[in-house]
Amino acid sequence: MPQAAALLPDTNLRDVEWLSERELKALQSAGLESVGDVLHRVPRRYEDRRVSAPLASLVNGETYSLRVHVYSAGWRFSYKKYYEVAVGDEGNPYGPRLYLRWFNMPYVAKLIAVGMNLSIYGRVKVMGGKLTMANPDFEVMEEEDAGLRLAEIAMGNMALPADATPGQERVHTGRIVPVYRSVSGMAMRSYRALVWNLLRDLAEEIAPPVYDVAPTYPYRRALQDLHFPGAEEDSRKARMRFALAECFMQQFRVAWRRRRNQAHCGQITATSDGYLEELQAALPFALTAAQQRCVAEIRADMASPRPMNRLLQGDVGSGKTLVALCAMLLAVESGHMAAMIAPTQILAEQHYHNFCRLLKGMDVRISLRTGARADDTDYLAEMSGDSAPRIIVGTHALLYKKNRPANLGLAVIDEQHKFGVMQRESFINCGDHPDVLVMTATPIPRTLTLTLYGDLDVSVIDELPAGRGEIITALRNPDNTKRIVAFMRSELDAGRQIYIVSPLIEDSEASERKSATAQLEHWKSIFPDEPMGLLHGRMSADEKDAVMAAFRANETHLLIATTVVEVGVDVPNATIMLINDADSFGLSQLHQLRGRIGRGSHKSYCILLSKSKPGEPGREKLEVLCRTLNGFEIAEEDFRLRGPGDVLGTEQSGLGAVRFAEWLTDARLIHRANRDAAQILDADPELILPHHHALRSLVSGEIAQAVVG
Ligand code: ADP
Ligand code: MG
Repeated sequence: MPQAAALLPDTNLRDVEWLSERELKALQSAGLESVGDVLHRVPRRYEDRRVSAPLASLVNGETYSLRVHVYSAGWRFSYKKYYEVAVGDEGNPYGPRLYLRWFNMPYVAKLIAVGMNLSIYGRVKVMGGKLTMANPDFEVMEEEDAGLRLAEIAMGNMALPADATPGQERVHTGRIVPVYRSVSGMAMRSYRALVWNLLRDLAEEIAPPVYDVAPTYPYRRALQDLHFPGAEEDSRKARMRFALAECFMQQFRVAWRRRRNQAHCGQITATSDGYLEELQAALPFALTAAQQRCVAEIRADMASPRPMNRLLQGDVGSGKTLVALCAMLLAVESGHMAAMIAPTQILAEQHYHNFCRLLKGMDVRISLRTGARADDTDYLAEMSGDSAPRIIVGTHALLYKKNRPANLGLAVIDEQHKFGVMQRESFINCGDHPDVLVMTATPIPRTLTLTLYGDLDVSVIDELPAGRGEIITALRNPDNTKRIVAFMRSELDAGRQIYIVSPLIEDSEASERKSATAQLEHWKSIFPDEPMGLLHGRMSADEKDAVMAAFRANETHLLIATTVVEVGVDVPNATIMLINDADSFGLSQLHQLRGRIGRGSHKSYCILLSKSKPGEPGREKLEVLCRTLNGFEIAEEDFRLRGPGDVLGTEQSGLGAVRFAEWLTDARLIHRANRDAAQILDADPELILPHHHALRSLVSGEIAQAVVG
């Protein structure tokens, strides 16, 4: 049924005549409204259904990728129990058989049933005159359709669109076939046919939605290659094109922001070093060379009238807080307020106490301001009545306009990855354009720094303070904790403190409280005489503070906690970090947890408890952790294991939805996108030209981040 009017990407699916009401509903519930929404939905993978050898041609000892039909299946017992599936060529029930055997994989029996088609990959071996494959890789082909298809036929709806494909072109077989994430209420086959038909009816000449990043590779052609590539190479090429488009959108926004921010006239907030020298003289240690370099870089920014927009990056324990404090002292001395914004109340309290201690005897005022404090009115009165320079420590409550201190010269945002880009923006763009320093302990590969923080200048603390105790990391089975307990006993006797961290199993208040309390009881029965604290996410801010304060003051010796201790907490006397079910944490998270120890001069121990066995999922990251202490190396591994999108969390990183993750780590794409963005903004800084209008909407937020073109 050819369409009268050709389709465009922004044609609403409602206006696609041949689409059934039921399918339209299914698509809409999946959030797909327009033709472009469907066409920009990337195949999850492809199946190469072009070649499959007939079973009669198989040769002993060779490895094959085959498409086969299941004729019988069942358990077999010989010297070992195994599940055997007899397969043959589809549509040839009396033809040759191949016997697939799975040993020690009982779940296979649940996945395979007679009548299914399988895609298998494995090595053929002739045994007792039979063709066999032991533990082959397999995939049930279009399993997701089977039930639906039967249902549809049962309901008398036999006219599946796939069968009405014009031009004899095959959509589902005999080609490289796209496989998508399932849309509920729609069989994979129907969805694939839909994509095929939309592409068929698409207008000849269409422009990409926002900007054409690759004019020599027509957008329409690229869409075709993305969904129905003629060869693997085509799909790679198409993905690259769309990855570049996505990367360009992201880099364009970053470039735009950077130019905006630089255009502001800021303040000069570093004039003299009196406080800085006083602090350094009072410190029991010297700043590391890296810290000094970072302070100098920050100082230069602050001394210039351009607003500072800098990222301070450093591995856990590298001493970022002190660098931030130096910057804040510079601001205060030049007559400005300086604010430190921490992601949690615990950290805000910690910074506050820390600063009070470090600045004791100096004539610098410090206030604490967090959302949980009930002293809003006092605080506001205090702030409005008195804008004398001081350091203010707080949580994100400080980000709200009404709480923002007047005369703000410098804002430091600790653990930036816990905040969103928009929150950072809100500070940068506030009234008098304060200098902004963001700090992060999430080490990210260099190309990504450019991607995520391309609008920031970067300082890196690439050196840990000297005199740190060694950190030993060990992986242990939780069934055998006798020696671990004995070791904990000896550390406690030596006066050290211990963290015990458990994952959040279920995200419900009752269960979190319960499992945390159960942990506490457990450890109380083991160390009945040791004072312990319990910290979990369901406590009030004041309760948490009290628990943290007691641990910091060494009044409690063990701290039983959920991940609230993950970031920033600094108790140098703690030497053991015991992590339950370590495999259920992310790699970077484990690195953060381990960063809580090894902060003093004592040797420290990170003990990972896990039942996982070598080769099992979740095990590899634990091995990585045992192998290295280097945060950058760990970040690289995390990227490799989980993929950048999952590591970074697209929401907070300001990436938007990432569909083509390749570009996140592809420096060439990033540089090219970066260059293209700069060229456009050089030529048309305000994006006034008509063909830049879509870009203008992009940066002003009118176009959703997810648009790819
Ligand atoms: P992070 O970079 O993880 O935020 P912190 O700022 O919490 O690290 O610092 C970790 C610990 O190192 C703190 O106890 C801090 O007092 C200490 N520290 C910071 N700088 C130095 C230094 N130059 N020499 C010795 N110890 C330092
Ligand atoms: Mg910190």
